Amino acid sequence: ISFAFPGPADYVNGIIGDLKNLPAFQGGVALGAFLRNKFGIPVFINNDGDLFAYGEALAGALPEVNRMLRDAGKNKMYKNLIELFKENEGKGAVGAFNLHCFEMLPAMIQAAEELNVPIIIQTSLGTAEYIGFEPLIAAVKALAEKSSVNVALHMDHCKSIEALKKAIDLGYSSVMYDGSALPIEENIKNTQEVVAYAHAHGVSVEGEIGSIGGAEEGVVVEKDAAMYTKPEDALHYVNETHVDALAVSIGTTHGQFKSKAKINYELLTELKAKLGPVGLVLHGGTGVSDEDMKRCVREGMKKINVGTELNKNYIEVVSKTFTADDVTPLTSLRNLLGPANERIKEIVIDKASLFKL
Ligand code: 13P
Repeated sequence: ISFAFPGPADYVNGIIGDLKNLPAFQGGVALGAFLRNKFGIPVFINNDGDLFAYGEALAGALPEVNRMLRDAGKNKMYKNLIELFKENEGKGAVGAFNLHCFEMLPAMIQAAEELNVPIIIQTSLGTAEYIGFEPLIAAVKALAEKSSVNVALHMDHCKSIEALKKAIDLGYSSVMYDGSALPIEENIKNTQEVVAYAHAHGVSVEGEIGSIGGAEEGVVVEKDAAMYTKPEDALHYVNETHVDALAVSIGTTHGQFKSKAKINYELLTELKAKLGPVGLVLHGGTGVSDEDMKRCVREGMKKINVGTELNKNYIEVVSKTFTADDVTPLTSLRNLLGPANERIKEIVIDKASLFKL
């Protein structure tokens, strides 16, 4: 009996043997990998996402499986990209907002709640290291659990496979491997390694083909070196790697806030037609006009990233409230940060409204 990996299954509705009557829950792939790796139990997942596990060892695995089910229930609002795309099918794109510091986090989730839309909180590796992986992940999970909307925590542009495995082990629900600067076959090989590891843990993967110009923490691409995504390369990459989402270069650049991007819609149409169900991702959202945002959503973008606008506005607001001269022993730091957090909430509401169909 072999372990089949049909792509992320999002429910388990049948387990043969002692586990037969367990309720359906998110993360059948994660449970399958767990049974196989920890207990050596052969498992099979069919194309409908049903998980079948066999053998006497199942009885011994039951207490641990029950614990997993309880944990899965606890974090029921904490999702990966595949789950969010599915939930949002026909409703537009899911907004992915770059978190630059801890304080922004509740404001972002409150904004999503106000609009009743799912949200992707994404961080660079630098931000994860600055806040600390564990406190960051614990906070996102805790807020997601209490929230009325679904939340994913996604590692943005990461070139290190080792760092991505750490993010997955510690609890990110989604990751982006950025091998766009590498020769395509090397990008494919590395992405395959990330996908195998991530999917075995119920984590989704975004890849990148073509290169999106501009500066993003950890990634600097000269504007001239930005290259449109070639549809045939993208198709080859998606077929070989089975990524769940793909960042495409269609004219946007990271960190563009002084002018607006000129989007190549012909290319977007071609990519959409060629790549079918893979979730296309628009990077560099700060430099995209409201009209173009809406059009990109209509044309099938599934995830839209906004980062610089949040960073820039946060700094602008705190630089007004933090005037050193006024500080007394009674000055409240919280009162000084409040307006910046409020601004983040307003921006997320404004942007995420554009992403709704
Ligand atoms: P901006 O910073 O230009 O909004 O882009 C964000 C992004 O694409 C993160 O990957």
